Amino acid sequence: MRFRTTQIHGGVEPDPTTGAILPPVYQSTTFVQPSVEEYMAKGYSYSRTANPTVRVWERKIALLEGGHDAAAFGTGMSAINAVFMAFLNAGDHCIVSDVAYGGTYRLATKIYTRFGVEFTFADTSDPGAVATAIRSNTRLILTETPANPTLKYTDLAAVSEVARAQGIPHAVDNTFLTPYYQRPLELGADLVIHSTTKYLDGHNATVGGSVVSATPELHEQVAFVQNATGSIMSPFVAWLTLQGVKTLSERMDRQSDNALKIARFLESHPKVTTVRYPGLESFPQHDLAKRQASGFGAMLWFEVEGGREAGIRIMDSVRLWTLAENLGSVESLVTHPVTMTHADVDETERARVGITDGLIRLSVGLEDADDLIEDLAQALERA
Ligand SMILES: *Cc1c(COP(=O)(O)O)cnc(C)c1O
Repeated sequence: MRFRTTQIHGGVEPDPTTGAILPPVYQSTTFVQPSVEEYMAKGYSYSRTANPTVRVWERKIALLEGGHDAAAFGTGMSAINAVFMAFLNAGDHCIVSDVAYGGTYRLATKIYTRFGVEFTFADTSDPGAVATAIRSNTRLILTETPANPTLKYTDLAAVSEVARAQGIPHAVDNTFLTPYYQRPLELGADLVIHSTTKYLDGHNATVGGSVVSATPELHEQVAFVQNATGSIMSPFVAWLTLQGVKTLSERMDRQSDNALKIARFLESHPKVTTVRYPGLESFPQHDLAKRQASGFGAMLWFEVEGGREAGIRIMDSVRLWTLAENLGSVESLVTHPVTMTHADVDETERARVGITDGLIRLSVGLEDADDLIEDLAQALERA
């Protein structure tokens, strides 16, 4: 089955008892066993360990990413946490992209360092820098591409080759492009992480996460943490995500078209000093963006003359755009990473990786692009 078909039908079968076309929300703690001898005969015992609605989602995301299986979590952060927990022990070392979601940086520096895990935040856009950062105790490489919020790309095939040569699992946070545009496992990665909160749900309705594994061995390690720590996706969130994902390709294509139009508008605006959108020829890694993924996504950022103050005036003047954290939904959102999503990243680290005080991040939604542009134009007038 091709992607557009799999996103609708993959992993879903009509309910065996009623024929319901949508998988029911199996809101049940436990599952009755026919006899002690036949324990687990139907595959389910207790909803922390596995739930039929959640399993439909896990099968679907595994199919979409081309993986062996998947484990679903309560949030994207708990998915990242499960990967850390599955592969890192005290005394181990982990390499993480130096530009990454702020929560990933916080989890690493504020929690895992307490348990004796060491981290290097490396410029993973340079595979040589990843090779140089590897130590004898490196047990995991986590990359994010394009990275939140600067959109720096990592060459996944090249980094996967470096990781494979040393026998280190390579996990990729694929939240920004989703499997519709980018499939890390096909490029040699071992694990794919999602915040399903973003494009996979796509409707600002849930928070959730998933980890897709390339092999049964990797999946077993992640699923063990899922059950042992109890950090699971609820049946209702799985059900909503199953509805949202059916239109993933259509939303991504339309939102990306909108993003390109908005990027072109901003590029031609006299008050705008920088615009970064992977689909623009001016994007520093435009060639890698074209080669590695089949689309550019719907995230972009820009800066205006007057820096932080002018940027804040714009964010406070938009009417149709909404000032909020989150991204990837049908509603267009504007975010100031320095005060919002990346406030926990040290100032010097932010400066080093290019998260400037004036950076305005846009998550372009599904509205009419002309309305979105008109609103930005009136806000820019006030900058
Ligand atoms: C939002 C996000 C996360 C965290 O996901 P939550 O669902 O908010 O916990 C992780 N990685 C990326 C790239 C994100 O955008």
